[in-house]
Parts: sequence; C-alpha cells; structure tokens
Amino acid sequence: MKALPLEGRPITLRFDAGLRAHRGKLLAGSGARGIAVHAASFVRRREIVLDRTLKKNREECARVLVHELFHFAWVKLGNRMRREFERLLEGEMGSRARGELGWSAEMRKVKLVPADLARRSSAWREYVCESFCETGAWLYSGVGRHEEFTLAGRFRSARREWFERSGFGVRIPV
Ligand SMILES: [Zn+2]
Repeated sequence: MKALPLEGRPITLRFDAGLRAHRGKLLAGSGARGIAVHAASFVRRREIVLDRTLKKNREECARVLVHELFHFAWVKLGNRMRREFERLLEGEMGSRARGELGWSAEMRKVKLVPADLARRSSAWREYVCESFCETGAWLYSGVGRHEEFTLAGRFRSARREWFERSGFGVRIPV
C-alpha cells in the first residue's frame, strides 16, 4: 500500500478480537449479540478498531483500513462536496447501475427503494457514505482486484474522475 496523503490530527489504530456491532456500539470479545464486523471508526475519539484476524491478510487489512479512514474524510468533506458525490450516485441509480465497490455499500444498495432516493432517507444517506468509503478504498488501498468490486467499468471511471477532481490523490483531509 502506498503512503496516503492524509492530513489531520493523529488517529489511534488498534486491533481487537471478535468485533461485533450492536445498536451502534462496538462489542469486543466472544459475546453472542450483534453482527460481526471487520472494523469500526470512532470519528470524535479519533480511533479505528480493526479485527485482529485482518493482521493475517495484508490486502484485506489495507482495504478495510482505507475504508475506515475515508469515514473521517467524509466528515471533513463538507456539505457541498457530499452533495456532489450524492448526485453522482443518483445518476448511477438513474442509469440502473448494478454492483458496488464493496459489500458495506452493496448490502445497503440492494435494500434501497425509489422512495429512499426521493426523500433522501437515512438508509439512502448511509448508503452514500458507505459508497464513498468503499470507493476511496478501491482507489487508494492498492488492492486491484476483489470479488466485491462489482460496479461496471464506466461507473467506476466516473467515480475515479470525481475523486481525482476532488484532489484526494494529493491530499486527504481526515
Ligand atoms: Zn463504513
């Protein structure tokens, strides 16, 4: 993985075992509650927690870490740029684009109904955020191929252009 041009205050990174998320809270250890997750970000605390199993898989670790870093970038992005990225995804939906660039976006995308777009529901906005993070990870984690990269080429190109135009190749405020 190339060094990312991150700009911002330090973010603590730690590994933990058996991460599960339940009602917006991260649980570590072997409790039965919640759903298994690879990672979680705490933007205000400036902390990223990655599942310990990722240590054994460099590529997946890089992809998940860059995804989490882009959660910080999303917060710093500002409304105008967030809205611009949202419009890009609206265009994709209008073109009936299938697939995504990672499961966390894909699992949300497949559940969307037209009304979510029309009223910009929380499900839609969550999807937009996850899609932004997955696109960042696709572009900057150095992972070229992955079974979760299912978005068609022309839509990928438009996303790459948007990210480059936004200057993320030069600086990523986090
Ligand atoms: Zn995410």
